[in-house]
Amino acid sequence: MKIFAPKETDPIETRASLDPAAVKKLVGLGAEVIVESGLGLLSDHPDSSYEEVGATVTSDRAGSLGSADLVTRVRKPSSDEVGLLKEGAIHISFLDPFNEPDLIKQFATQKSTAISLEMVPRTTLAQKMDAISSQANLAGYVSVITAANRLNGIFPMMMTPAGTISPAKVFVVGIGVAGLQAIATAKRLGARVTAFDVRPEALEQAESLGAKALRIDLGETSGTDQGYAKELTPEQIEKQVEAQAKVCAQSDVVITTAKVFGRKPPVLIKKDVVAGMQPGSVIVDLAAETGGNVEGITPGEETVTENGVKLVGLANFEGQVSKHASQVLAANFANMIEHFWDEETKSVPINLEDEIQKGCVITHDGTVVHDRFKD
Ligand code: NAD
Repeated sequence: MKIFAPKETDPIETRASLDPAAVKKLVGLGAEVIVESGLGLLSDHPDSSYEEVGATVTSDRAGSLGSADLVTRVRKPSSDEVGLLKEGAIHISFLDPFNEPDLIKQFATQKSTAISLEMVPRTTLAQKMDAISSQANLAGYVSVITAANRLNGIFPMMMTPAGTISPAKVFVVGIGVAGLQAIATAKRLGARVTAFDVRPEALEQAESLGAKALRIDLGETSGTDQGYAKELTPEQIEKQVEAQAKVCAQSDVVITTAKVFGRKPPVLIKKDVVAGMQPGSVIVDLAAETGGNVEGITPGEETVTENGVKLVGLANFEGQVSKHASQVLAANFANMIEHFWDEETKSVPINLEDEIQKGCVITHDGTVVHDRFKD
């Protein structure tokens, strides 16, 4: 099987779908691995490091896309590049499937197999291929480091002969994978952390990391069987926004990570709440790239409000630690390929009866096979 990893084309993308360690694993399985020259340039892996572990480095992107049996890449492909894939080729990447019906149709027309990393089921068996989690974890870390860098103060309490500096107060909204890492990182830096999530079990996890849980009675807020939150009603959101206002006003840093699978993130910090925050306080919105939890935040930008609150809406937080983000993402790819690898044929057979494949294979053999996207 010929596996090709093209370089990312989005200017904000710094990650690579394969790193040398992943290539080594794939070559060990018996795959032929080809990487585009410069693949690891922004994640500190020169072409030579891929060659050393058995990959072929090429500059022929189009030709390699057209001849590969399996393509790995981070971001969704352009329509032009889907058009280059050969019949039967497997393409694994983030695909944004809820917002890309045309791309999905094109994969089907092209008779190639599209696998969406977003749709990998959240089961124990599939954990090693869960790229949403591997990346969210690093994004959570980066969100706090970014906030610490933007704040004109320090995070830990310091008792000095010149007086005591109080610890920074950090409020984390959304205690999923990113939120938990944000809490852990802020605690490690010495901040006093408060956290909120609609899932009660997440509040307990926050407490076990030493954060104070904000408890708001929102009525029924049960999650899905995949561990994701369900969308709140407008009345519940209103209640949440109100209850959070006081905590925001007292916080030096607010980190928002709240997402609802397959939908736009809820707006949880309204303009009047931002207006009530202290000058110099910082809000980092991890959901900014997909719409944002904070009213008035500009995706991909940093702005300062009239009352001096810094709004950080950067995109691709995990890309700021591209070496480690690529390391774990590449491991997710390699683990997935290894999991389904057939020793005899030295290839990845598609089996839609398999629970993991049923969850994340979107198109196969000329049709949209995934239940959620058939229509
Ligand atoms: P996510 O990125 O979809 O959402 C982030 C967080 O936002 C979630 O905790 C969600 O509850 C929260 N949220 C949604 N609406 C909110 C609101 N109005 N206010 C506050 N918070 C809100 O979630 P995620 O981080 O990808 O993971 C969610 C859960 O899935 C976690 O509990 C995680 O432990 C679990 N998980 C399980 C597995 C597995 O079993 N293999 C793997 C990964 C994650």
